[in-house]
Amino acid sequence: MNDDQQYGPGVLKYMKEAQKLLDQKKKQVNRIKKFKFDTIAVHGLYTAEEALKQNQGAIIEPLYLSASQAYRDSDEMEAALAYLIPTWCYTRIANPTIYYLEWVLALLEGYKTGQDASCLVTASGMSAIVSAIDPFLVKQKEEEEKINFVSSVQLYGGTYQHFSVRKMQDRGIEVRWVEHQDDIEEWKTKINENTRFLYSEAPSNPQQSFCDVKALADLAHSHEIPFIIDATCATPALMRPLAYGTDIVIHSLTKSITSSGLAIGGALISRKPIVTNIKNDNPLFKENFAEYVKFLPYRDNGPAASPPNALFALNDLRTLRSKMDLVSQNSQQVAEFLAQHPRVYQVDYLGLPSFHFHPLAKKYLKLVDSDDGTGKEFNRYGHLMSFRVDGPSPNARKVFDNLKVIFRATDLGRIKSVACIPAISTHQQQGEKARQMADIPPQMIRLCVGAEDPDDIIGDLDQALRTL
Ligand SMILES: *Cc1c(COP(=O)(O)O)cnc(C)c1O
Repeated sequence: MNDDQQYGPGVLKYMKEAQKLLDQKKKQVNRIKKFKFDTIAVHGLYTAEEALKQNQGAIIEPLYLSASQAYRDSDEMEAALAYLIPTWCYTRIANPTIYYLEWVLALLEGYKTGQDASCLVTASGMSAIVSAIDPFLVKQKEEEEKINFVSSVQLYGGTYQHFSVRKMQDRGIEVRWVEHQDDIEEWKTKINENTRFLYSEAPSNPQQSFCDVKALADLAHSHEIPFIIDATCATPALMRPLAYGTDIVIHSLTKSITSSGLAIGGALISRKPIVTNIKNDNPLFKENFAEYVKFLPYRDNGPAASPPNALFALNDLRTLRSKMDLVSQNSQQVAEFLAQHPRVYQVDYLGLPSFHFHPLAKKYLKLVDSDDGTGKEFNRYGHLMSFRVDGPSPNARKVFDNLKVIFRATDLGRIKSVACIPAISTHQQQGEKARQMADIPPQMIRLCVGAEDPDDIIGDLDQALRTL
């Protein structure tokens, strides 16, 4: 923001008017924060009052397709373009429909965490990741610097590809891989004075690995760097990492949040303030990172979300909690069926007590606003799992090819069950060595269970396994 003194009385008038609106909005946000998770998910910031005043009474948030906004006069334009008043201006910078989605996500991710959060919605999950990490990978000293960041190696294939090729190969930024992300000692040995942040994906896709969120946030903070987590597979209905000190949470909105599968999108949610040792003249960098990214790098780089996609996400998000409850319960039944099947030698599902990462997941994955009868929330473990088929890899392909109800697709988070073989699809590009390191053998089938009756999904798996 610039100094008020240089602006004329017209601009100051608009700033005064804007301050009134901002005060009203603050009150509105405080009112909504008192609601339960489901109510926030259904309504967000869009009130009946706003519908009647501005949108012909439409009860659903309107879809604003206009690329740009008109101003009343030159003073308002000047104030808006200097970011002195709230404005959406141009859809590459902001848009009213996207704004509704950003607020719902910020409020849900901040729910019961004791943290104030803000959100930036982007075109895809990948662009949310890039938007979150790039501001930390900047030059800080005159002399040559060997910048690095420390990341779990168990990552979504696209993220692994971005880190290893775009960052390491193309830019010479060192990525220090952690092979066992539940081992805090391994993280400790990888950090040095040039480490810019710690990065984890939990639960990871497809291995379902998990980390000790609080311990990693504490470790990052002891080095004055942020902890960033991709919590796509958990969604805010099962885990809100800000509660444990996480600085930045990333979601691919394309997955469980937009379970209909009708849109692509991403989100970056940050707490206020974040921990960082990066020197940046703009106070927003530390105080409100998501807003900083939105006003500056996002504007300059252009990974803008599309308003129709934002509306699809907003619409699916309204029932997130009950949907994650349902698909988690279905997944538990399917995982238990697979675990006792003689042709399956391993099932990785966080809800199975025999699974290595179960104790950590039990600590962190809980259905928000649920009650186990003693006033505590109960566990739900999401709908992603993987299982390994006995014998050589053609066996897994045979089972996979014989699925009749479950769709063969490199997709997850759907209302419909989908499956893929990661070694030949999502994790094909990273090569054999990296797959071994990340524990993705060709016998592994990734399965994401939807909202069908679980008996029908079990029936489909059973007939496919019988073809062996
Ligand atoms: C799919 C996915 C991404 C990438 O999201 P897009 O919306 O496809 O760009 C990132 N992280 C995880 C865990 C994912 O599953």
